[in-house]
Amino acid sequence: MRRGACPSLEAPLHTGDGLLARLPPATLPPAAWVALARAAQRAGNGLLDITARGSVQLRGLSAETLDLAESLVPPEWPRGALVMTSPLAGAALDETADPHPLAARLAAAAPAGLPPKATVLVDGGGALNLAGEAADLRLVAQPDGWLLGCGMDWLGVGNADAACAAALHLLADMARHATRAPSAEACAAAAQRLRPAPPPAPVPSPEAIGLHALREGVALGVGLPFGRLEAATLIAFAEASNARALRGAPGRVLLALRVPDPAGLRRQAAALGLITDPDDPRRRVAACTGAPACGSALLDTRALAAALAPDVPPGGFLHVSGCAKGCAHPRPARLTLVGTPQGLGLIRRGRAGDTVAHHLHPQDARAALAREFAADA
Ligand code: SF4
Repeated sequence: MRRGACPSLEAPLHTGDGLLARLPPATLPPAAWVALARAAQRAGNGLLDITARGSVQLRGLSAETLDLAESLVPPEWPRGALVMTSPLAGAALDETADPHPLAARLAAAAPAGLPPKATVLVDGGGALNLAGEAADLRLVAQPDGWLLGCGMDWLGVGNADAACAAALHLLADMARHATRAPSAEACAAAAQRLRPAPPPAPVPSPEAIGLHALREGVALGVGLPFGRLEAATLIAFAEASNARALRGAPGRVLLALRVPDPAGLRRQAAALGLITDPDDPRRRVAACTGAPACGSALLDTRALAAALAPDVPPGGFLHVSGCAKGCAHPRPARLTLVGTPQGLGLIRRGRAGDTVAHHLHPQDARAALAREFAADA
């Protein structure tokens, strides 16, 4: 994979369970998601992730199956990820403005030669906004236009024409200098195309699990246990949804838009093992692919994570890792249980690759958790 680039079908990433390819967030009919799930079954190990941004990852691909995956992924699935919109763009009842037209203009006019990970967010606002997502440039809908942000700075507000021109000026500078941070001169020139404006008011963190009012109908968001989705579960959910479209959303959530029977779909989602309650304790646990899907795993991570999740108290966090690589949570966690050649290792306030405090028998893991979290109380 090219350094600094996002993994894709053309340039996948080597992981413990094979090659990984990421597809940008997409709002597409359930049939397209079923086709994607079948691609995961035939070309990968049948596991998909929805990332913290709502992108979808195919896992367990190999050099021999990449062409097959490329042929099976629905052609309408977008491949480029420069411009991203809020998850209910154009549909949310509470959004300030539909970001699609501005996003389409930016994507069509963006210069060639931008750094591979350059990102522009066009955020229509509303409860499911993108305020918590990092980006090089962001355009946030305001009652009087589009507020343009660059890194940590807000440059000003303008109508769609002015904001688009200002953003394209910054993108041209980024392409010219092969950087994700426009120069101070480019920022000053972009600001001159806009009116001065204060930063946007802080908004609560979006919670995508649950019901969301749309201009027509409702959307239902369901969470993925440990951020992971089995292809068979995705197929069952997509086929049961009768939704107009599905979409990955920040928080590792799958949204079904314009569902005719949200209560019934919520029951079916729960029966499929998906998360329908934002306070579900499985959201307090990160677990990697683990055994048997990952050849490096020394632990059936998801079985252990599912067994231990009810014992993680609100505010607590547990990382269960099949080996020291720590794919599911590369950052320190309050508590990590890691598979090692010597058995199950316990790590306090560290990463999966850090020094193990002690080893324990899996049967003793619940008692160990209770002791550790009791110490925090
Ligand atoms: S952390 Fe998990 S998924 Fe990553 S290589 Fe180790 S066992 Fe495999």
